[in-house]
Amino acid sequence: MAVGGIAVGDLVAQHGTPSFIIDETHFRSRARLFVNSFTEAFGAVGTDVDVYYAGKSFLSVAVAKWALEEGLRLDTCTGGEMAVAERAGVSGAAMGLHGNNKSEAELTRAIRYGVGRIVADSLGEIEQIAELALAEGRGESNPVPVMVRVTTGIHAGGHEFISTAREDQKFGLSLAGGQALEALELVLKFPQLHLLGAHAHIGSQIQDSTAFELNARKMLELRAELEKSAGYVMPELDLGGGYGIAYVPEDQPIDIPALAVTLANTMKQVADELGTTIPRISIEPGRSIVGPTTVTLYTVGTIKNVTTDEGIVRTYVSVDGGMSDNIRPALYGAVYTARLANRDGDEQAVLARIVGKHCESGDIVINDVALPADVRRGDVIAVAATGAYGRSMASNYNNILKPPVIAVKDGESRVIVRRETEDDLLALDLG
Ligand SMILES: *Cc1c(COP(=O)(O)O)cnc(C)c1O
Repeated sequence: MAVGGIAVGDLVAQHGTPSFIIDETHFRSRARLFVNSFTEAFGAVGTDVDVYYAGKSFLSVAVAKWALEEGLRLDTCTGGEMAVAERAGVSGAAMGLHGNNKSEAELTRAIRYGVGRIVADSLGEIEQIAELALAEGRGESNPVPVMVRVTTGIHAGGHEFISTAREDQKFGLSLAGGQALEALELVLKFPQLHLLGAHAHIGSQIQDSTAFELNARKMLELRAELEKSAGYVMPELDLGGGYGIAYVPEDQPIDIPALAVTLANTMKQVADELGTTIPRISIEPGRSIVGPTTVTLYTVGTIKNVTTDEGIVRTYVSVDGGMSDNIRPALYGAVYTARLANRDGDEQAVLARIVGKHCESGDIVINDVALPADVRRGDVIAVAATGAYGRSMASNYNNILKPPVIAVKDGESRVIVRRETEDDLLALDLG
């Protein structure tokens, strides 16, 4: 197997395992796919689109620069993410900040840096942003751009979605009961704030376009409602991220160009029904850009055959990472696929379970996967589609050292996040 034109054996010899290998060309082409597809589809119905890369899925200085170079902006939700973005040279105007519990320091930092949209998540936060904006000398002539996070009752993931009237979650302000409208009207009361629009993010790993369409409809209705109640037409709507990718062969990834056309046409139709225009649109894909671009390489250690209660022989293949570099299987039962990556294996396969090296029996990378029957210590296993919420959710459990991220392109590799060292770990421990 080769990634970015480099044989896995060479990557392992040079960088060791476990390692995240990210294909720069692939990342750039997926980023461009979003920009081009949405710009074209929404251009055809008369509006513009901004694509924000959701930094939480995986953020480093190099990746932020790639996203920027491909015409994207950057979505952040903490001071730490803003710090990486600032170091990458992302301007405030090209940055967004969301989150349900931003600190005063984070909000002030965003206002000072000129972040192009602060997504307010509660009535109290709108007042807080208004206060901080005044303290930073902002007023009617240079207001702070604000969006309001709305929960539309649509929640989706996989092939399923639910539509509820009541909301029982920590994010945003609910349409039901008029909370969202109240929040939008509150923003309008402060001359030092500029109401850019409403924002809704409905879930993750969504594989069906229906939920996106329903959500867009509700957002347009909310915009029309505010126009009626306050005479204000919001210039923008942010539809969030959540576009699904294929982790295993059974997954149907969202067809991005097709979704863009469907969504644009639906919004045009709803806007016509409501007798209004389509606002400027923004979207925030994370997983769908970076997820498929990365594989994790592990080295195989202990191999054990275990006979299950059902009499099945299962081969436990232990690798040199696990839940510290990929918590998703333990956290949400996420599924992945993998293959032997350093050589051709036996044609005959065994039913394997790939497990990590942590002191938890739930430390499973892949529950069931077919591997060549001759898989052995020292082999290299590649797990696919680990670019999103892998390295970004990594921990130091068992004082393990977080893996590096290696960018590959045109037969060359480059470390963009280096491997942690024991000195890094001990530097935090003041004894
Ligand atoms: C997580 C998140 C995203 C990105 O979600 P993906 O599933 O990675 O596309 C976008 N916007 C907001 C507000 C989020 O919380």
